[in-house]
Amino acid sequence: MKEESPNVLVQNISEEWISKKVHDLRNFYASGKTKNIDFRIRQLKILKAAIKKFEPEITHALWEDLHKSKEEVYLTEISITLQEIDHHLKNLKNWARPSKVPTPIYLKPSSGKIIYEPLGVALIIAPWNYPFQLLFYPLVGAISAGCCAIMKPSEFAPHISRLAEKIVKEIFEENYISVTQGDQETGEVLLHQRFDVIFFTGSSNVGKIVMKAAAEYLTPVILELGGKSPCIVDKSANIDIAAKRIAWGKIINAGQTCIAPDYVLVHESVKEILLEKLEAAFNKMLGSSIRQSEHYGRIVNERAFKRLAHLLEGENIYWGGKVDEESLFISPTILDNVNPDSPIMQEEIFGPLLPVITFKEINEVIELINSKEKPLALYYFGEEKKGEDVLSKTTSGGACINDTLMQISNHNLPFGGVGHSGLGKYHGKHSFLAFSNQRAVVTTPTWIDVPFKYPPYKFFKLIKKIV
Ligand code: NAD
Repeated sequence: MKEESPNVLVQNISEEWISKKVHDLRNFYASGKTKNIDFRIRQLKILKAAIKKFEPEITHALWEDLHKSKEEVYLTEISITLQEIDHHLKNLKNWARPSKVPTPIYLKPSSGKIIYEPLGVALIIAPWNYPFQLLFYPLVGAISAGCCAIMKPSEFAPHISRLAEKIVKEIFEENYISVTQGDQETGEVLLHQRFDVIFFTGSSNVGKIVMKAAAEYLTPVILELGGKSPCIVDKSANIDIAAKRIAWGKIINAGQTCIAPDYVLVHESVKEILLEKLEAAFNKMLGSSIRQSEHYGRIVNERAFKRLAHLLEGENIYWGGKVDEESLFISPTILDNVNPDSPIMQEEIFGPLLPVITFKEINEVIELINSKEKPLALYYFGEEKKGEDVLSKTTSGGACINDTLMQISNHNLPFGGVGHSGLGKYHGKHSFLAFSNQRAVVTTPTWIDVPFKYPPYKFFKLIKKIV
């Protein structure tokens, strides 16, 4: 069995080292090297080549940390990061070019433009559930925008954490991009330092700590957090498709996905059939002996296992419910007739348990969702128009109509939460912007000096008509 605190495999780094490192990164940034677009493009290409080169090692490390299959690793960690790099390589020159904005008539002959400058030295803190992707995907944005970065991977994915350090040491200049190992303690030490931007992915509780620390220096933050993402199955839904897509969204990484459907709200008229189809979908994807399936992950550690096992207590198991502490295995589990006030409905599940609650009228669903914190994702299965109506009466960071998880895979869509589920967005151009300062510049010629703005405000009546 894995150790309860795998962080013994990841040594905390001393405060002196961190503060010297941040100082060195600052000097590197001050050299102006990262402002050069060709430099950034070169670094992105180097990163892309390294991900391809290290693919077998990344795959192996993720198996060790989370029992992820090579297919799942490729789809959810590697290809998604490579696609992001390609997207930046294709568009960076365009994004980084100053963009002109229209100038109102009363400001002529001045002109306005936005220039995109890097924010500076970035801190990137990642969680353990997609430990490769959630470390390197934001890094693509940091590189693309021209920042230097220090990254702290999660102590709970020690194989990937150490591999990330090895990769970064091998490919990047020492004081350009750096990895620091460590747990919460190292995280706290890092947060005492002054950064120009902090990109944090993790729980809402730690997100609050990050935001408080950032407030000390008024550092901008991007907080990619979690929450309970509801999944509605209406009576108009294609139940076959809904069951397949919900089951898939819940088994990926054994439910340890920030945007996994957390719980299902199903119209009472289709509940029985949905439960049957969900069971069939789980069986079809993972086989009758799920424990033997190479396509099904494990719970990250004993603490997370115990939390999930505890959530199961007193619930009505419709299907699944097999647990094995020794191997940190919890089977996909459908829970029927769940009470909205039960413990499992009060916190983000972050595991393969799927509570199902029935509704009669869609308004009940909207009321329940709106009574909780704003979720990271919301899924609706049913007629598109009705889905749009539900979206208009609720809020969430992202949403899918008749699908799950897929909002993350289109790099043209901003990814992130709202309120309790996060602050700020990234992916594609939004990543570039997240690590950039959009500097507003007005250029005014000197061949004329329009007198209206100066006291004693001659022709004020006329001016009032114009502005
Ligand atoms: P976590 O908040 O416990 O830890 C995340 C990172 O913060 C780790 O590197 C950890 O070492 C560090 N950390 C912990 N305490 C800290 C402190 N006091 N100061 C500074 N750093 C500290 O989260 P986790 O358990 O690794 O990940 C699970 C959570 O992350 C879930 O809530 C999930 O929904 C969320 N998540 C969100 C997204 C997203 O994109 N929105 C993606 C993945 C996971």
